[in-house]
Amino acid sequence: MYDIIIIGGGPAGMTAAIYGRRAAKKVLVLEALSCGGQIINTPDIENYPVEEHISGIDFSNRLHKQAENLGAEFVFEKAVDINDLGDSKEVITAKNTYTAKAVIIATGSANRKLGLENEDSLVGRGVSYCATCDGNFYRNKTVAVVGGGNTALEDALYLSDIAAKVYLIHRRDSFRGEEANAAKLSEKPNIEFVLNSNVTALNAEKRLKSVEVTNKDGSVRTLEVNGLFIAVGRIPENMNFARLVELDEAGYIPAGENCHTGVPGIYAAGDNRAKEVRQLVTAVSDGAVAATEVVKYING
Ligand code: NAP
Repeated sequence: MYDIIIIGGGPAGMTAAIYGRRAAKKVLVLEALSCGGQIINTPDIENYPVEEHISGIDFSNRLHKQAENLGAEFVFEKAVDINDLGDSKEVITAKNTYTAKAVIIATGSANRKLGLENEDSLVGRGVSYCATCDGNFYRNKTVAVVGGGNTALEDALYLSDIAAKVYLIHRRDSFRGEEANAAKLSEKPNIEFVLNSNVTALNAEKRLKSVEVTNKDGSVRTLEVNGLFIAVGRIPENMNFARLVELDEAGYIPAGENCHTGVPGIYAAGDNRAKEVRQLVTAVSDGAVAATEVVKYING
């Protein structure tokens, strides 16, 4: 039996693993895909204290190594359920059942989709949710980014150095993302803002050919693009645990700053927790807090 099972190997989960190991607890991290979570999509992190520039992938790899060097175990299986047995908890994956005294849910969030008719079928054929993963396929081509948060702004900046032309499509006339990012965008000659507009259709033959964009005033424009990068936010990955843990109307776990879920021995950390500021620095902070609370719980 483990002391702590951490579901999710993003910054929150891996930081919780570090804190758990430093308290000499037996720690298992269950990760569905690969470690790092959303941060691996950020090419250049500029707002993490002390590190003026680091890529999300480097950050994640170093954090993973640090947790492993301290003795945390990592298993690459998706947790699909938790059984609360009181003093112990079972975490179920497709292949195995793991048992621990306490669980930290640090599952983060998944890409929100636009919900357009052929959006799913065009993924990999012109539609992408990850500029840093797929941007290079669009060297000297024309692309569009949709969204107005930091992800969309950073994606547009990143793509403007690769693509010939970048449209940034946003449904309002002001951005949700940081002013510093928005200011950098204005300086890029190959970025065109398409504001007060929604993408209303994806036109494709074998691949994406163009996007139909509808302005709030009702006018419709067709943008010829080779690629569309969708960055319209994230959806918390908590549904597998909704049977056990309360979720708010948006699907987040309404755990407070101490990361307690209301179920003794089960904690929430990172972007899947209801909170105001979702940043790398607050995710790692959650990991530290949740693991500290778990250690107190285990030690009685
Ligand atoms: P976000 O901040 O929630 O922004 C989502 C954007 O998509 C918003 O501008 C929203 O428009 C728009 N949107 C939502 N649904 C839409 C739809 N159906 N159609 C069209 N547009 C839609 O998401 P995010 O950019 O992924 O960022 C998530 C969190 O991570 C944020 O807290 C962000 O600051 C943080 N982040 C930080 C960094 C960094 O620190 N380096 C990098 C990336 C992300 P409205 O504005 O009109 O609602």
